[in-house]
Amino acid sequence: MGKVTGFMEYERLEEGYEPVPARLKNYKEFVIALSSDQAKQQGARCMDCGTPFCNNGCPVNNIIPDFNDLVYRGDWQNAITVLHSTNNFPEFTGRICPAPCEAACTLNVNDDAVGIKSIEHAIIDRAWLEGWVKPQPAAVKTGKRVAVVGSGPAGLAAAQQLARVGHEVTVFEKNDRVGGLLRYGIPDFKMEKSHIDRRVQQMEAEGVVFRTGVLVASLGEGSKVTNWAKETVGAEELKAQFDVVLLCGGAEQSRDLPVPGRDLAGIHFAMEFLPQQNKVNAGDKLKGQLRAEGKHVIVIGGGDTGSDCVGTSNRHGAKSVTQFELMPRPPEEEDRPLTWPYWPYKLRTSSSHEEGCEREFAIATKEFIGEKGKVTGVKTVRVEWQGGKMVEVPGSEQVLKADLVLLAMGFVSPVSPVLEAFGVGKDARGNAKASTEAQGAYATNIDKVFAAGDMRRGQSLVVWAIREGRQAARAVDEYLMGSSVLPR
Ligand SMILES: Cc1cc2nc3c(=O)[nH]c(=O)nc-3n(C[C@H](O)[C@H](O)[C@H](O)COP(=O)(O)OP(=O)(O)OC[C@H]3O[C@@H](n4cnc5c(N)ncnc54)[C@H](O)[C@@H]3O)c2cc1C
Ligand code: SF4
Repeated sequence: MGKVTGFMEYERLEEGYEPVPARLKNYKEFVIALSSDQAKQQGARCMDCGTPFCNNGCPVNNIIPDFNDLVYRGDWQNAITVLHSTNNFPEFTGRICPAPCEAACTLNVNDDAVGIKSIEHAIIDRAWLEGWVKPQPAAVKTGKRVAVVGSGPAGLAAAQQLARVGHEVTVFEKNDRVGGLLRYGIPDFKMEKSHIDRRVQQMEAEGVVFRTGVLVASLGEGSKVTNWAKETVGAEELKAQFDVVLLCGGAEQSRDLPVPGRDLAGIHFAMEFLPQQNKVNAGDKLKGQLRAEGKHVIVIGGGDTGSDCVGTSNRHGAKSVTQFELMPRPPEEEDRPLTWPYWPYKLRTSSSHEEGCEREFAIATKEFIGEKGKVTGVKTVRVEWQGGKMVEVPGSEQVLKADLVLLAMGFVSPVSPVLEAFGVGKDARGNAKASTEAQGAYATNIDKVFAAGDMRRGQSLVVWAIREGRQAARAVDEYLMGSSVLPR
């Protein structure tokens, strides 16, 4: 373990942030990572618990006590080996994971959790800097061909694992750049895109072929999901050309708000707004980018996607930014004895909220108000929750000014025509139906078609997508070869 008395001697250290006025001027990352010495001290706090709840709380089961100890001892090279043994892309999770491992840390029972995410961040950034992250091409090729549909974290993790055991892997991506929501969705100020480019280079050196701008099957009439495809490949064609097709297309169908006035100009899905800024940051010239400057912006939806709209609107120079949440305001502090080691219910204030945002809780949207076809306001009503049911508070209607409304109420399902083109069965929520257990894990009802990530589990987290990609790779390898050396 780190230092036997470390948890009593040292406090949890938070990563720093650039000051708000400085970071609002651009779209660059603004988190100041721990120094090597600070990370070492944080590693010293780890108690190397007999039952490491952190390891169980982490969806990829990172071997946290071991890398904490290695960092404490200054053995950074072995720390990255341990970290990479369970996670292909710690530079993604070290930046944008909400860190369920920390919620589960034993120290979190009555003290502050070990800063596990900041240690992960420090390990992987140092590993890249030192040149320790190298391609690992397979020594022997199997001659088996795998098509991965979708280049988000699930598709990337699966492709890397499969290439490393010798399969010929081609990743099909309808957008013009690789990365899924990491690329088009998550703002650059949370994660700069050079981290994805560097991994793509590594994976290409491992033999993975990326075909961007290629749509597999069809999205259906009038779909608003991101799509910069220049060609299309049919489901049957893909099945005929490859030994396995692994569907990692995400859960891109945004939840709509069909109240009166929805068709007014100025009301957009978050996923129309956010990817445009990602593109501009990448150097693309867009005609008529959706911009928030000088506007009263209302973001409907209190989650991460909504918070990303807040941060982007403030960087555009919005006049005001207000975020609505249907549920009541959560408590500032969790009830630890009740929730530990699980993800606690408490108020979460993101760095984007700190940059300037009015947050309204227990509020519902009744109608969009407009003039000359353009949105000018949102009619709202306060709500209460009685016996699990939402009840409107009489007389609480009001109209708030709005020139731009961003709908960030989550995602209902994957795009169903893609699943239908393959004949893949769906679960009750419209996700690709496949279990994650035992023989036949990640396999759909259609022979040689597998599914993983948000397309199988519904909209989730990057770390869950990486887990599913890795596990699906093992299942595909077993299907192709009869057995697999890939980790479960
Ligand atoms: C705005 C936003 C912010 C988020 N912030 C966070 C965060 O901070 N932390 C976190 O952990 N999670 C976050 N998430 C969730 C996280 O991004 C997703 O859970 C994760 O990216 C899912 O990975 P995936 O690989 O399953 O799918 P995706 O990342 O959605 O990737 C799917 C890819 O498949 C492609 N595709 C789909 N269909 C086809 C087709 N037919 N042909 C070709 N290509 C296709 C899509 O274009 C896309 O690139 C956020 C989500 C959003 C929307
Ligand atoms: S639960 Fe916390 S203290 Fe215990 S091993 Fe994990 S990180 Fe260390």
